[in-house]
Amino acid sequence: MQTIAGFDRIGEENAFAVLARAGALAAQGRDIINLGIGQPDFPTPPNIVEAAVRALRDGQHGYTPATGIPALREAVAADLLRRFAAEVSPDSVLIVPGGKVTMFAAILMFGEPGAEILYPDPGFPIYRSMIEFTGARPVPIPIREENAFAFSAEETLALISPQTRLVILNSPANPTGGVTPKAEIDRLVAGLEAHPEVAILSDEIYDQMLYDGAAHVSLLAYPEIRDRLILLNGWSKTYAMTGWRMGWSVWPGPLYERARKLAVNAWSCVNAPAQFAAIEALTGPQDAVTAMLAEFDARRKLVVALLNELPGVSCITPKGAFYAFPNISGTGRKAKPLAAALLEEAGVAVIGGPDFGLLGEGYIRLSYANSQENIRRAVGRMRDFLEG
Ligand code: PLP
Repeated sequence: MQTIAGFDRIGEENAFAVLARAGALAAQGRDIINLGIGQPDFPTPPNIVEAAVRALRDGQHGYTPATGIPALREAVAADLLRRFAAEVSPDSVLIVPGGKVTMFAAILMFGEPGAEILYPDPGFPIYRSMIEFTGARPVPIPIREENAFAFSAEETLALISPQTRLVILNSPANPTGGVTPKAEIDRLVAGLEAHPEVAILSDEIYDQMLYDGAAHVSLLAYPEIRDRLILLNGWSKTYAMTGWRMGWSVWPGPLYERARKLAVNAWSCVNAPAQFAAIEALTGPQDAVTAMLAEFDARRKLVVALLNELPGVSCITPKGAFYAFPNISGTGRKAKPLAAALLEEAGVAVIGGPDFGLLGEGYIRLSYANSQENIRRAVGRMRDFLEG
């Protein structure tokens, strides 16, 4: 059998392999603390669960429009207007099965041999994987600790070539927790005006996960790039809904039609009761989100303080998402073997920085979506391991 060469190049997300290995070790009776996978440890708020149950009882069992039910697309548009004063037509909102699907669709739309796509490194691993799949050349945008893990407008713009089709941006960021300041985004958008043929995919899935009073700057707030901006967002992180597979994207006019056709070809529509749950998430009370964020903030401070006490480890304070990305180069160990040994020998699941790109060497990622008690125990085990 001969499949296309893209399948020799497609990568994956090692966090899922670590999750499986952590599960297997736990099944053998090992006490594993999982700081590997990026998902809230809270249950989905009960009003959202109820909305899905109600939808099932009300007979919402059928196909919906491929683009999503109109009331949900309207709720997304209203949410974007309220939070960012961004005027978005519900007709440019596409409901998709998870945040990942938007990057899949966008990269498929722009990637082909001869094209170049810019993406953050370290960054979410699926960006590079999908770029490689299409045969396009992945061009890493360096994300540096000395820049508090923000992207640099100057460096990003300097990487644009006549072959560049798409620039992928992510703030607040996985795996670093970095947040790019508004002044830097202003500079990037101003520079992009000289490259009107380059599309932008802004992954804003952590847009509500900000600390120290920071406000999210959405790329949607820049009318000058709206005709070539694809926005990726979803319910997974903010509403503790990773397993529901609910995401949304905003597409400029001509691309929307392409994305809609891809939906019709691939998934027809998103799970109907989950769409009703998503309406409740956006329009119902937000106190559960506020409470989750307050708890994440407390854990963020705790994990950073504890990590900075470890020998050979230093950790800057992340301003967003729920990840810490400590620099482990002072331990004299490589990141991936260290992550593997922490899981196998110390029972702590973390992800090695190189799983997020070449520039991730020297770092590991800890998701602090776990209880304060488990964070204390996990970092205690890391100390014993590093000192032992
Ligand atoms: N984008 C980033 C930066 C992420 O970290 C994730 C999930 O970890 C996603 C997108 C995908 O989200 P979903 O689980 O909704 O597909």
